[in-house]
Amino acid sequence: MLKGQPDDRGLYFPSSVPYITELFLQDLHERHHPEIAFDLMWPYVGGDMPDDVLYKICESINFDFPLVAITDRISALELFHGPTLAFKDVGARFMSGCLQHFAKDRLEKTLVIVATSGDTGGAVAAGFHNVNGVEVVILYPKGKVSRIQELQLTTLGGNVTALEVDGNFDDCQALAKKALADPELQKRVHLTSANSINIARWLPQQIYYFFGYEQLNGGDSPVFAVPSGNFGNLAAGLLAQASGLPIKKFIAACNANDVVPEFMRTGDYSPKASVATLSNAMDVGDPSNFVRILEIFAYDINLLKKTVEAVSVSDETTAATLRDVYDKTGYVLDPHGAVAYRALADDLEKHPLHRGIFLETAHPVKFDSVETILGEKIAVPANVRELFDKPKESIEMDVNYNDLKDLLLAKI
Ligand SMILES: *Cc1c(COP(=O)(O)O)cnc(C)c1O
Repeated sequence: MLKGQPDDRGLYFPSSVPYITELFLQDLHERHHPEIAFDLMWPYVGGDMPDDVLYKICESINFDFPLVAITDRISALELFHGPTLAFKDVGARFMSGCLQHFAKDRLEKTLVIVATSGDTGGAVAAGFHNVNGVEVVILYPKGKVSRIQELQLTTLGGNVTALEVDGNFDDCQALAKKALADPELQKRVHLTSANSINIARWLPQQIYYFFGYEQLNGGDSPVFAVPSGNFGNLAAGLLAQASGLPIKKFIAACNANDVVPEFMRTGDYSPKASVATLSNAMDVGDPSNFVRILEIFAYDINLLKKTVEAVSVSDETTAATLRDVYDKTGYVLDPHGAVAYRALADDLEKHPLHRGIFLETAHPVKFDSVETILGEKIAVPANVRELFDKPKESIEMDVNYNDLKDLLLAKI
């Protein structure tokens, strides 16, 4: 966690995957969520920190994770009841709790650098705000995040600095990566990233698959549809399955950025420049976490294909789905959830006895496009309304590494 990425530029992965017991599954419904989270995380973290610290961290991600029935065979697992209304709150808070524990005995400051296309920035800002010994620098593309997303990462102040970069997400990510790999900076300060490649952000994401399953209250194992961009969420679901959670299969639901669906079709993995879509948090042309999925299947592509189907959904179909589901059921999807809903509904049509859960990864109010598509106002949750009164504070910068480096050195 402290290092972010190993020196060989690969990703950290557990040396073994723990297996849950039959009893654990049977008892799920009776137990409190922090207890379940603690038991799931203990094999990975236990021994490295006292149990009571780990339990407190598990309590800090005790948001609601309701399973909401949309049709008789499709339910939404809502992951947006955390402080910044997106599933990224789970990983960001878990990681910040761990970092807080390990940073307290270090003399050196820890500098967390993160690039965001929207939701990561807010989740990391909220998760790491006021954590002692930690400075957070967030790079976001000017004019390319929604109003609420921008307020979430620019209004906290304190140890959180927001850099408004005159470029796109790829520029922000390239700047962040360069800083993380800069030997001169590394000598001066302890640097780490809070993007989803960080193992402490990724591992806890498996927990809510158990919460979704638990709320089904028995019956046949479900299909899970996961709106996917960098593929951390799907990889976490596959880890839960590898640990013994009964899941029939997964659908990787992508937008026009279809590197993985193309790979599943042709066997050829060719990264592309990302294209902008309605589901902008999934606009990724070279998904970082896909390699973790290959690892879970020991690079056996046929085995992977038996468990995961990948589909690409166009913006036109996403908008039509948002409208259609609202008209028929009154449920307001967000564009990312709409991609997953569509992929799941199409799949269930081919399998009349299956039932499915799709992940609702963010609250629809975060995306300005939803009101435009539905032609209606969406009620704004109270914690978002408060943001509108707070002043935005950001530092504008060009895509220039030396400027970034000067700024970071001034933070140390
Ligand atoms: C980050 C994000 C995703 C994509 O998740 P990955 O783990 O990167 O595949 C999907 N939906 C929303 C709302 C997000 O913020």
